[in-house]
Amino acid sequence: MLNLIIFGSPGAGKGTQAVLIAKKYNLNHLSSGEILRRELNNIEFGKKIKRYQNAGKLVPNNLVIKMVEEEVTKKISGGGFVFDGYPRNLKQAKALDKLFQDKNLSINLVINLKLSEREAVQRIMLRSKTSGRSDDNLKTIENRFTVYHAQTTPLLKYYHQQKKVINLDGRLTIPEISRQIKQILTAYKKTN
Ligand code: AMP
Repeated sequence: MLNLIIFGSPGAGKGTQAVLIAKKYNLNHLSSGEILRRELNNIEFGKKIKRYQNAGKLVPNNLVIKMVEEEVTKKISGGGFVFDGYPRNLKQAKALDKLFQDKNLSINLVINLKLSEREAVQRIMLRSKTSGRSDDNLKTIENRFTVYHAQTTPLLKYYHQQKKVINLDGRLTIPEISRQIKQILTAYKKTN
C-alpha cells in the first residue's frame, strides 16, 4: 500500500498535485487544511479553527491529530493516502508514524515541491481571487511562511534521515510535475 506526503510551502502546489496523484493511483487524498475548513461550522471547534487559520498559525496539535486520525481510520480500507499539508510539525509526524506502525504501514515517500517564497506568494494572491479562503491575504500569508520555516521545514531533516525525501522543482508546469511524480512512483514500485 502506497502512502505519500506531498510537502512544500504554502502555495507550492501541494493540493493540485495531491488531487492528480490520488486520482491516478486510486489513493485517498487527505488535506488537513480541508478537513479543518470542513469543521468551520462546528459549534464546538469552528471558531477556534477559524481564529488559528486566519492568523496563519497552526491549529493546535491535539485537535488536528485527532481529526486526521479519524479520517485515516475511516478511509483506510479504500487504499493508501496522499497527505497534503500534513504533517506540519514534528509532533504530527511522530503521531502519524505511530498510527501507521499500529496498522503495519509506513510513509513511503515525501515529495518536496520547491518554490521560492516570492513565487509562492504570487500564486496564493492569484488563487485568492477564486479560493474564497479568508487566509489567502498578504498579512496571513506572511505568518503562514513564518510558521512554515520555523515548524514545518524541520520535517525535511526528519524524513531525509529516513531517505524518503525527493525534491522537485515547483516552478515547472502542473503536467510536468505530475509526470515527474509518476516517474518517481513507477521507479519506486519497481524496486520495492
Ligand atoms: P492549508 O489548506 O494546508 O493551506 O492550511 C490552511 C490552514 O489550516 C493553516 O494555515 C493552518 O492554520 C491550518 N492547518 C492545516 N493543516 C494543518 C496542520 N497539519 N496542523 C495545524 N494546522 C493546520
